[in-house]
Formats: sequence, structure tokens, C-alpha cells
Amino acid sequence: MTVAHAPRRPDRAAIFARMRDIVGPKGWIDGAADMERYVTEERAMYRGQASAVVRPASTAEVAAIVAAAAEAGIGIVPQGGNTSLCGGSVPGPGDEQIVLSLGRMNRVRAIDVMNYTMEVEAGCVLADLQRAAADADRLFPLSLAAEGSCQIGGNLSTNAGGTGVLRYGNARDLVLGLEVVLPDGSVIDGLGRLRKDNTGYDLRHLFCGAEGTLGIITAAVLKLFPKPRDQRTALIALPDIASAVPLLAKARAATGDAVTAFEYIDRICLDFVFKHTPDTVDPLAQRYRHYLLMELTTTADGDASLGERFEALMEQALADGLILDAAVAQNEAQSRQLWKLRESIPEAQKHEGASIKHDISVAVSRVPEFITRATDLVERALPGLRVVAFGHVGDGNVHFNLSQPIGADGAIFAAERPGLNSIVHELVHEMGGSFSAEHGVGQLKRGELVRYKSAAAVDVMRRIKAAIDPQNIMNPGKVL
Ligand code: ZN
Repeated sequence: MTVAHAPRRPDRAAIFARMRDIVGPKGWIDGAADMERYVTEERAMYRGQASAVVRPASTAEVAAIVAAAAEAGIGIVPQGGNTSLCGGSVPGPGDEQIVLSLGRMNRVRAIDVMNYTMEVEAGCVLADLQRAAADADRLFPLSLAAEGSCQIGGNLSTNAGGTGVLRYGNARDLVLGLEVVLPDGSVIDGLGRLRKDNTGYDLRHLFCGAEGTLGIITAAVLKLFPKPRDQRTALIALPDIASAVPLLAKARAATGDAVTAFEYIDRICLDFVFKHTPDTVDPLAQRYRHYLLMELTTTADGDASLGERFEALMEQALADGLILDAAVAQNEAQSRQLWKLRESIPEAQKHEGASIKHDISVAVSRVPEFITRATDLVERALPGLRVVAFGHVGDGNVHFNLSQPIGADGAIFAAERPGLNSIVHELVHEMGGSFSAEHGVGQLKRGELVRYKSAAAVDVMRRIKAAIDPQNIMNPGKVL
């Protein structure tokens, strides 16, 4: 009797030994305690397993690790700052995979001041890039709550949003070129600094938002902008949420499109912040129900007209009944105080017990309708729950969070998540919106992807995945 020979996979222990040689002892972690923070996500909703955490220091090392993993069919979970909160950056169950952490690749390779670009490695922390750009008298405008620990490779892989999208776009809009290691270990060197390049499929946008399922972004050329010279920040009280939309439209037109942030804040968010965040006070004498944090900036030095245009806008909006009151920052410290109110909301909400979160988007003009209808639906579904709505209304992106009823059992409330998610996401779908505006899909929203994206679109996504990663080793179990 003859036995057909299946191609024998190389011994896994030998492959791991080879990986260890590639990165050296500094880049290799396999003790359970040391791996813990790489296999657990911050909210602890996901906890996976890995054979090892590999921390390469160069693109060549990433490529060699991936080639070795591909040979043995070992899954690879690319990881940046591990802050995305959807389970995309941590492994799933089963230890047939490694975490590939980009944290050691943290060099700014070049800043081209005249071209308004910088070339950076994937493991650079976002706040460090903001500082590097500022030191060169330029602005890198991506800005979000996790900027002190998130990494640019992860920001690009998840197409992160944040507070600067209204003026500067999402992470993918800030990229001119990418260097990517593909699932077979080959490298796309796409680090061009071109503003125009119409040469077929735009591969850069394939990897932005792919959440590491098609390859590993190892470096990028990012767009820079002139540094803002002056700003006006105000916390504005609205008579009703509907006024936010015409106010934004007017503000953009009346200020030469100087609006860089337009954040909605429901009163309950401020109540949580004043209660739980030290050194915060209400800047307005009276209590209102709906607020906006608006910021205008100008890049022109000594441009007095920004202040004039801002004051004219406020007077007109008051006369038109679009606003009730406003606290206007008189200096940078006061501006930071107002921003602190907005940025403290997620942390403050944690102190109010269990929460169920939604990161949705609809057309900007339909945000008030969404908040009103969604609030009505969830309050009827579970009387006593507290709607905690805030977010980037200027981009149509609302963090529609729900806090448990006061005194309720947190675990019992958390068990309502699937039902409440479904109520909110069905409404979003009906309104032509997205169930994930800026946090991505990860492990958390794979069901929603299949349910709400068109069958044709999901089919194309699956075919792209199969073509580029036929072994399904690149961040397996994520997105699709
Ligand atoms: Zn956000």
C-alpha cells in the first residue's frame, strides 16, 4: 500500500526558534504574565491566547517574521497601542497565533517641511507625532482620546476618527503613502510623497480600515498642515438639539470654514463629569439640556478677523434663537478647560456603572432626528436607563451610550446589550447610517457587518481577503 505524501508543515517549535533569532531576546515575550497586556483589551471584553508576543524593530524583521509564520500557517495579530476597544488588536481563543507588536518601530524617519509631509514608522505614538510636527512648525491633525498611547499604524489600520475629522478628515485622508508587509512576507514599498498619482487601484486605501486582516502597515507618509495661530473655543447652550445643524451650517459659511471641532454634549455627560472628574466646574451660570463645544482656528498670524467673525456669528445665532448662552474661552488655559469637559466624558461615565455603547454615524443633517428617535426607542425598551449621547456631530458621528438605571444590577443591564444594540443599529440602518463610525469592526461587530452591509459588498471583501491572504493567517477572526 502506498501513502500519498501531504506536504509536511515545518515543526512549530523550530519556527518559533527561528522567529526568536530574527528579533533577538529584546523582541521576544512568551511568559504568561508578560504577555497579559498584549492579549487583553482595555475594556476586558476580549481576552485571547498567544504562543508568543513578537516585537520586531525593523520592516525587514517584520517581513522575516511574517514569512516564517506563513510557512507554518501560524496566525498573526498585528498590534499597535491596543486601544481600539472592538477586540481587533487582541488574539481570539486558541494559541495557534502570535501577537506582532509594532511598538519598537517608533522612529520619525523624515519631516519634509516644504512638502508638508512626514515619514514615520507604525509604532510611533500619536501624541509624539503631533509634537514632532509642531516642533517643525506644522500640524498633524489626527486627535483622539487615546492619543497618548495609540500608535499611528493602528490609527491607519482602523481608519481612526476623533475630533479633527470635520476639518481634516479621517486617518485615511491623512496618508500619502504606506509601507506594508503582506501575508507572504513580501513588502509593498509605497512610501511616495505624491499628492497626485493616478496609476490604477489605490492600494493605500485597501490597507487603511482593514484592521490588519490584509497585511501589516509598517510605515507611512503622512500629510502635514499649517499650524494654527489663533483659536476660539466656546461651550454653547442650545435651545434644542435640532438647532445644532443650522448652527454648524451657518458657522462654516460665516467664518470662512474655520470650524475645526463641533462636538455635541448632552447635559447628563456634564453632570457625570462634574461629579467624577476633579477640577471641573460648569462655566455657565445656568443649567441647560443641550450643549456644543465649538472650536474655530486660523492659520494666519495676527488674524484679528477670526475673533470678529466669531463674535458676529454668536450675536446672529443668539438673535435667530439658535443658541441660548455661551462660555467663550479667553485664553488657551480656558480653552483647555472646556476641552477637558468633553474629553472626560468616557472616563466619568465608567463611574456610573455598566454601560452599553454605540459608535454610529448618520448624515450630519439627520443627527438630531437620530438622537431623538433612538432615545425614545431605548427608553421604551428599558425604562430607567440613562442615554449618554455625545460626540462629533460635525461628522454625523454620535457616541450613543447607555448607562444602567440608578441602583440596577450592572450584570443584568449588560446582558441587555444585544437587544439594545439591535434596536439602535436597526434605526441607524433605516436612516442610511453606519453601525461603526470610527472604532472599526474587530471581533465586536462582525455580525453587524454581515447583517447591514450589502451582500455584494461583503462578497467583494471576502474575495479580496482570500486573494491577498489565502491561508487566513493575518489577524484571523477579525472584521469578516
Ligand atoms: Zn469619538
